[in-house]
Amino acid sequence: MSHADLAPLLKQTFGYDSFRPLQREIMDAALAGRDVVAILPTGAGKSLCFQLPALAREGLTLVISPLIALMKDQVDALVASGVAATFLNSSIQGSEAQRRRSGLDEGFYKLLYVAPERVMLPDFINDLKRWNVAAIAVDEAHCISQWGHDFRPEYRALGKLRDLLPGVPFLALTATATEQVRGDIISQLHLHEPEVFLASFNRPNLSYTVLPKAKATSQIYDFVRQRPKEAGIVYVQSRKSAESLAAALCAEGVKAVAYHAGLQPEERAANQEAFLRDEAHVVCATIAFGMGINKPDVRYVIHGDLPKNIEGYYQETGRAGRDSLPSECVLLYSRGDLVRNLKFLDEMTDAEAAELAARQMRLMADFAEGTECRRVALLDYFGEEWPGDNCGGCDICLQPRETWDATTHVQKLLSCIFRIRQKSGFSTGLNHVVEVLAGANTEKIRKWYHDQLSTYGIGKDVPREEWAALGRQLIRLGYIDASSDSFQTLSLSKKGAAALMNRTPVMLTRVPVAVKAGTSAAKVAKAGSIACDEGLFEELRALRKRLADEREVPPYVVFGDASLRHMCRQYPRTEQGFLAIPGVGSQKLADYGAAFMGVIAQWLEMHERQTFAEEAPPPPPPKMKIDGGLNGTMLESLRLHRQGHGAEKIAALRGFAISTIHGHLAQAIQQGELKADPRDYFTAAEEDELRAAAAEHGMESLGKLKEALGNRYDYPVLHYFRAFETRK
Ligand code: ADP
Ligand code: MG
Ligand code: ZN
Repeated sequence: MSHADLAPLLKQTFGYDSFRPLQREIMDAALAGRDVVAILPTGAGKSLCFQLPALAREGLTLVISPLIALMKDQVDALVASGVAATFLNSSIQGSEAQRRRSGLDEGFYKLLYVAPERVMLPDFINDLKRWNVAAIAVDEAHCISQWGHDFRPEYRALGKLRDLLPGVPFLALTATATEQVRGDIISQLHLHEPEVFLASFNRPNLSYTVLPKAKATSQIYDFVRQRPKEAGIVYVQSRKSAESLAAALCAEGVKAVAYHAGLQPEERAANQEAFLRDEAHVVCATIAFGMGINKPDVRYVIHGDLPKNIEGYYQETGRAGRDSLPSECVLLYSRGDLVRNLKFLDEMTDAEAAELAARQMRLMADFAEGTECRRVALLDYFGEEWPGDNCGGCDICLQPRETWDATTHVQKLLSCIFRIRQKSGFSTGLNHVVEVLAGANTEKIRKWYHDQLSTYGIGKDVPREEWAALGRQLIRLGYIDASSDSFQTLSLSKKGAAALMNRTPVMLTRVPVAVKAGTSAAKVAKAGSIACDEGLFEELRALRKRLADEREVPPYVVFGDASLRHMCRQYPRTEQGFLAIPGVGSQKLADYGAAFMGVIAQWLEMHERQTFAEEAPPPPPPKMKIDGGLNGTMLESLRLHRQGHGAEKIAALRGFAISTIHGHLAQAIQQGELKADPRDYFTAAEEDELRAAAAEHGMESLGKLKEALGNRYDYPVLHYFRAFETRK
């Protein structure tokens, strides 16, 4: 079958009219026999990238998937669309296993799902050779990396597959964007010159809200109560709070279950199953819950406690709204959570790991305390730039923002930091600065005679929390530098010193002190929404649940919410009309068409047909900053460099490869953000030699240049050389 036929196959089998961004490109590369790495956010449609090519090529596609518990659902969903798919794992025994194996022997199946540990069984490799494996898809490929958040040692065994089945192309898929994970995937799977696809990490249908945490349980209950039919996940930090929260919600009549790694396997499986089958509406979980949960209609994710880092927060919120319908992400934030998390780190023996973890926690708290658009902040972390100035889907963008003239306050705070250092010759942390401003009588103030400073007590009229918030805001805005050790002592940056000297006017955004709980961004934001006849929607939802129960599959395997909502806009009465609904292919038409059209016809006998406006077009995709400018991750390296850390130390602090850090710094030099002297990197004689080689071989491929120079220069040197040569 030629690639041009993919589109009809997509409609006929899966019922979709078009490809999502990058799906087509990934499939083309995979079908051309290339190794491919696909990095797309959750809900982007990664599964289709190997499922559709599997149908278009000869032979079997082997799918590696981490969770035995979820393989069945994925295969059920494929079978419901008429695809010959199956899985093998320890739960399949006896005659059923035999039946599947003979199906595989006969070449009946197009897709086979297995867990990575199976690959280590010697017989299995022989089976694969017999079964004519044409491609291998590794789902959740970040599990292979220790740097990832879900490291699974069994994934390491997959490296052998390449050697045992040479010539079979790999497709690795993940939603984890960090560079070191990406590098690990490529090296550990022994991928050969893979084509790497990286999608935008923006999730337009997700809205982000941060609320001050007051009484978490009642805040969460209020939120849940207003969304009685919707499915949601509440993440909390400890197993104990997962259980107590679930119990508290149940006591109020909410169908909630708990999920964490400490539950007995049967209970864990039962709770997960209840959630997937729409029998429980809310899962109160630790981060043990989530990966591979393909439930597409999770309408909200609440974080009751502060996540440990931005990457984790992004992945966990990402589990909402896979079906592209509007969904809400709410973070309950209190500064106490940060303090508590940091305290845990004191018990860590590895000082560098603790420092890295602390840094990531502070970035997370900065996000929560930030006054800039949440989407901008998240995307910046992944090196992307949001094109508009109002995302329309976060609390910051949807709340009118109040700016105020903070000049006098800023002057007081900056001069207090300055005076402390001037008098004592050392710097202190923010707390102490605030105490001095407040004119407190603490032991430190007495010991260091800070009550004699001219700034002592000049901030009495402003509450301490406001001074502290202002201090953190000024750190973020670059007026104040905080040391990277655990003391976080403050000093004026160049910008801060200039502002103090010149009395620069400073306008700031007021950090909202309290937001009414229960108001959240998605109430207003509608990206991805499908207006429809809500009464009919409830009817079809009930029908879906009944059909799903009969077949012992989760309801979304029958149809997703998006398909139901389209039915409730178009009221299809004919086979052709039903086939036009997104998500309806020929198999689902045959299996479910009559039942759904029957309910629709009945509904129309009793109710007026409603009409709906055209759907809103999707927002423009954000720009990637990767090829120009500096993204967040590079800036972080640059910041550490400016604090005097060498590349090796920065790599250790950030958990990156040294080469990555050299790359960041070289980019900073190239962009003119970092003033550096070439002599720190290579001698004048070396520079002449490099330049001569570059003139002859160009600088596009550093590999070529390196070879031309007899491999006498390492990559970092070449990187820096190129950066100096092309410096802006
Ligand atoms: P990921 O693995 O990237 O998180 P999934 O493969 O689970 O995403 O897909 C998320 C949802 O998007 C699924 O419900 C899937 O059916 C749907 N989907 C995938 N591709 C398309 C498409 N081209 N058109 C419409 N829906 C799609
Ligand atoms: Mg997936
Ligand atoms: Zn915003």
